[in-house]
Order: sequence, then structure tokens, then C-alpha cells
Amino acid sequence: MNTENVIIIGAGCAGYTAAIYTSRANFSPLLITGGQIGGQLTTTTEVENFPGFPEGIMGPDLMYMMQQQAEKFGTRMAYESVVEVTKDKETHLFTVKTSGGSYKAKSVIVATGATARYLGILGEEGLVGRGLTACATCDGAFYRNVPVCVVGGGDSACEEAAFLTKFASKVYLIHRRDTLRASKIMVERTLANEKIEPIWDSTIVAYHTDDNGDVEGVMLQNTITGERTPLPVKCVFMAIGHTPNSSFLGDLVDRDDAGYIRRIPGLQATKTVGLFAAGDVTDPNYRQAISSAGMGCAAAIEAERYLLEIGE
Ligand SMILES: Cc1cc2nc3c(=O)[nH]c(=O)nc-3n(C[C@H](O)[C@H](O)[C@H](O)COP(=O)(O)OP(=O)(O)OC[C@H]3O[C@@H](n4cnc5c(N)ncnc54)[C@H](O)[C@@H]3O)c2cc1C
Repeated sequence: MNTENVIIIGAGCAGYTAAIYTSRANFSPLLITGGQIGGQLTTTTEVENFPGFPEGIMGPDLMYMMQQQAEKFGTRMAYESVVEVTKDKETHLFTVKTSGGSYKAKSVIVATGATARYLGILGEEGLVGRGLTACATCDGAFYRNVPVCVVGGGDSACEEAAFLTKFASKVYLIHRRDTLRASKIMVERTLANEKIEPIWDSTIVAYHTDDNGDVEGVMLQNTITGERTPLPVKCVFMAIGHTPNSSFLGDLVDRDDAGYIRRIPGLQATKTVGLFAAGDVTDPNYRQAISSAGMGCAAAIEAERYLLEIGE
């Protein structure tokens, strides 16, 4: 079995950027894509905040170009999913087990993203990008002067709701309980905002779509009385958390309470020497394409330095 210099796990903004850097530095990376080639941005339409595209760019097009750029410099792609990563204490080599086989590597960059949680309603997946999203920063500006809703009751939900008041005519905050679990200051600010209307003890049980298949409303159900009420909204912003995709790393990494990979402060390095993390999988704060790409760049440079240090 060949020993790879660097294996990059994940084919999103972070993984492709790490691949561009490490391949341009002649380390011939192997990139293992997982099931979502191109990552989360392949599930959206227009991206207006990625620098360099003043007219905006379609998410799938941007990701295809990133892949082409990585391959142009010698990145090799493996269309498999990683199921386990281990490190040998004596050889210091990583074994990356996938659905299709096994690889050895001197260093590993993990860029597997974080999956937004949705409600699990039938057909929900098909509405992502059509009036259903988990990112107000990304999609808020598309919904000007129309009513929208945010689902959730934590700090993120309150933050997203406040952000959306800049654009939307009205922001409904739908929460399954009768109190928000956000911090006191966030709760006070949220409830004081005239554009935000909380809808307590309620959950969405169905989405309504127009003739184009875009969301035009939801059906709410009161969690106590069971009563159902339609609510016309043009977009639903889900803010019930994300699941970082890192279970295959076992205890090679430490994680925060929400499961995000902890890094050595100021670096992309993790507690395991030679193992780096980049993008949403290690980022509870920003979760943006450009910040993920930036971390992919930083992880690549750190991996390159590590490889030079160990004599590659
Ligand atoms: C609908 C939507 C719209 C968005 N719009 C914008 C926007 O307009 N602007 C913006 O900046 N951001 C936007 N975002 C956020 C942005 O997409 C993410 O911040 C960014 O994609 C994170 O990049 P990443 O490389 O960290 O992870 P991801 O893009 O999530 O990619 C993760 C990669 O890891 C792979 N993977 C996962 N598990 C495994 C495994 N076990 N083995 C191998 N591979 C694996 C996946 O297949 C995927 O290729 C949007 C997100 C969504 C969902």
C-alpha cells in the first residue's frame, strides 16, 4: 500500500482549498469526497457573498470550478466515504478506512462539514434552497419585504431572527416551548424587537409550496392543544443546530459540547500531531464558504510544514 503525503477528507470549500494548496506545493494529495461531492453549496442556488463574483455564482458551479482547480494541480479524487481514521503510535502513520478500502497517510486534513438539522418532515430535503434554509447570513438578503420565520429557541435562533429583521417585513420565531433557552440578554433583545413575533408551543408539521415548488407558507401545530394554523411565509430559516461530521475520528480529536472539533488555539492542528481540521466541522461560529476556504488554506500550509518537518 502506498503511503500518501496527505489525505484530505471532504469535498467542500475547505477540502478543495486544502487540495489546491497542497497540490500546488507538489504533495499530490488524495481527496476523499464522501457522498456530497462539492459539499453543502451544491444544495443552494445563487451565492452572492463569495469574493470574486460580483454578479453572484450558482453554488454547484462554484464547487465544480474549485474541483477543477484542485485537479489541475494534481489532486487525486477518491469517491468514497471515510468510516474510520486511526494513527499508529510507532510509525506515526494514519490509516484511513473507507467504504471501498484503506489508505495510509503521513498527514490528514479533515474537512467534512457540519450537517444542519431539519425537522424530518417528508419532502423537506427537496425544499432546501427553495424557501428552506439553515443560514440567515447566506440567504436572508434574498427575502426582502416578505414575511419569514425562524425555527428554534436558542442563541442562534435569536441571532438569525434579529439579522433577518433587516430584510424581512416580519420575522416569526417558532419555538416548541413557551420560553426561549437563549441567554438572558438575547431573549430580552429578541422579545423587544417589534419586527419579531414569537409563536410559542408550536412546531411546523407541513410546508406549503407555490406552483414553482417554492415555499409560500407552513402549517403550524400547537404542541399542547394540537390545533393547526397556517402561516404564510416565504422562507423558513432552521436554527435547531448542526451535527459536525467527525464521528469516524474516534478519540483522535477533542470536541466541544456540540461536537465541533477542537483545535490548538490559533491553528488548524488538532491534539493529534499530523491531523488538521478545517471548515464547518470545526467552526461553530461562522459556517461560511469563505471562512471554510480560509481554514482549508491554513490547514494545508500547516500540513505542508509538518511534512517538511518530518522530512518529506
Ligand atoms: C442551503 C445552503 C446555502 C448556503 N449558502 C451559503 C452562501 O450563500 N454563502 C456562504 O458563504 N455559505 C453558504 N452556506 C454555507 C456553506 O455551504 C458552508 O459553510 C460550507 O459549504 C462549508 O464548507 P466545508 O468544506 O467545511 O464543508 P461542506 O461543504 O459541508 O463539505 C463537507 C464535505 O465532507 C464530505 N464528507 C462528510 N462526511 C464524510 C466522510 N465520512 N467521508 C468522506 N467525506 C465526507 C461531504 O461529502 C462533503 O464533500 C450555505 C449552506 C447551505 C446548506
